[in-house]
Amino acid sequence: MKTRVVYPGSFDPVTNGHLDIITRAASVFDELVVSVFINPNKDPLFSRKEREDLLRQSVKNLSDNNIEIDSFCGLTMKYVKSQNASALIRGLRAVSDFEGEFQMASMNKQLDEDIETIFFMTDTKYAFLSSSVVKEVAQFGGDVSDIVPGCVSQALREKYGFN
Ligand code: ADP
Repeated sequence: MKTRVVYPGSFDPVTNGHLDIITRAASVFDELVVSVFINPNKDPLFSRKEREDLLRQSVKNLSDNNIEIDSFCGLTMKYVKSQNASALIRGLRAVSDFEGEFQMASMNKQLDEDIETIFFMTDTKYAFLSSSVVKEVAQFGGDVSDIVPGCVSQALREKYGFN
């Protein structure tokens, strides 16, 4: 049986830290669905379509061709099930990520005990990289081209009027 997994997240926008997790998960599992979670409690910088498009462009250059891009709203576990996936992938950075992720993974296990949450440890060079930090720097015209894919760096410049 093929192992199909879902990597959900805000991806507002996708960073090299996310891409590292995507590359590694795609090499371990047969099929990987990277899906933008539409969180009604968050006010994102990039729209659903923009986030999906940036993800699509970012994974285009990867050698793995077992990656799909999608988006969803509502309960993650329902979505994972609807994708016929057996697990969801999350990334762990500093200890500060642990508590929230542990809580969410425990809750998700209660909702559906058949679906596992699998954590990938960040590559240390991305340990302090988040979409929020990227936006904080980019909004003042700072150069983020080393920490995000080229298309994201360009999209941020346009968003913040630096083009
Ligand atoms: P969310 O709002 O769901 O946390 P994010 O887009 O911020 O969405 O993150 C999605 C997932 O990717 C989370 O599991 C997060 O911990 C992980 N992640 C984000 N940045 C990194 C990074 N630099 N290294 C490893 N994992 C990361």
